[in-house]
Amino acid sequence: MEELLWLLLPVAAASGWWAATRTARRKSSANRREHNPVYFRGLNHLLNEEPDKAIDVFVEMLEVDSDTVETHLALGNLFRRRGEVERAIRIHQNLIARPALTTEQRGQALLELGQDYLRAGLYDRAENLFNELRQNKLHLAHALRHLLTIYQQEKDWEACLRTAEELERHAGEDRSVEKSHYYCELAEQALEKGQRKQARGLLRKALAASPKCVRATHLLARVERDSGSTADALRLLTSIVEQDPEYLPEVLEEIAQAYRALGQRDRLRRFLLEMAEKYPNRGAELYLVELVHEIEGEQAAVDYLSAYIARTPSLLGLMRLLELRCTRADGQNDGLLEQVRTQLRQLMQDRGAYQCRKCGFEAKALHWQCPSCHRWATIRRRPLRDSDL
Ligand SMILES: [Zn+2]
Repeated sequence: MEELLWLLLPVAAASGWWAATRTARRKSSANRREHNPVYFRGLNHLLNEEPDKAIDVFVEMLEVDSDTVETHLALGNLFRRRGEVERAIRIHQNLIARPALTTEQRGQALLELGQDYLRAGLYDRAENLFNELRQNKLHLAHALRHLLTIYQQEKDWEACLRTAEELERHAGEDRSVEKSHYYCELAEQALEKGQRKQARGLLRKALAASPKCVRATHLLARVERDSGSTADALRLLTSIVEQDPEYLPEVLEEIAQAYRALGQRDRLRRFLLEMAEKYPNRGAELYLVELVHEIEGEQAAVDYLSAYIARTPSLLGLMRLLELRCTRADGQNDGLLEQVRTQLRQLMQDRGAYQCRKCGFEAKALHWQCPSCHRWATIRRRPLRDSDL
């Protein structure tokens, strides 16, 4: 607060002096030593250790004219950044009320006021201002970006799509990833209402916007599965690995279920072997252990897993080995192994299994939009390795 006051003091003094000299000039009564009494009122507040009142007085006495508009904008911005949103709003509203502003200055003040409202959580008012800028093509890219933030917050996905397309047209920004997720959001809403046909159409649009959108493919696979087309669902699920191998762990369970539903255990085994080979440490090995266990029995599963862990150390693999060892068919339960297994599980649960690639936010579940930095499709599951701990 104090640093701001010391900044404001000379500015206010200069403005008071400037206003006074101009008035004096206009009146041709050249008393240059005339001082503004409001300035002394401000100083008085300062001396009485009332910095809040002093700031208000100094801000009020800054006359708005072509020379001080920049100062007002800078001050308002400073207040907003310091979290003093009410003061920022007052400064910017005061600016906008002046008829002498140029179109450019008014646009700048509207943009600032819109950001104050956003910061204060007054989304309706912010939206109106940004829309005014959008209509008048003033600070268009900034206004559209803020509008996109508001519409995302309000989950108005139709408006998000329109705004993203405008940003692409007018600012040359690539918004294909966001657009694909807006279509996915709309598709999920349609699915909730049981509108499968509409959902399919929206998901195809998502893939047309961004062919690598795994979320759209995954949702399409679920639509096919629920419509009884297991083979189509399986084809879509396996194509996700080609779109982005990092999503393999998210679809393994459904792929395994589809192969089993089609009675194709051998093909499932071949698929898992190929995945374990191509993308180690993403969970395919563990499904393979289950399958070996099922087909060849417990000893074969333990042998496979031991060989795998020796080749590729993995916490998940170690966990599974302990599980197999702890629950032997002979009914014996190894207390020490059980204890190690419990501790290991605890350690693994304490850490977020997912992480945002952009901001590092850790999450226990997959979010399509990062709750921290609000980017889309940046959260991925981390491969589990010993070095993670
Ligand atoms: Zn993030």
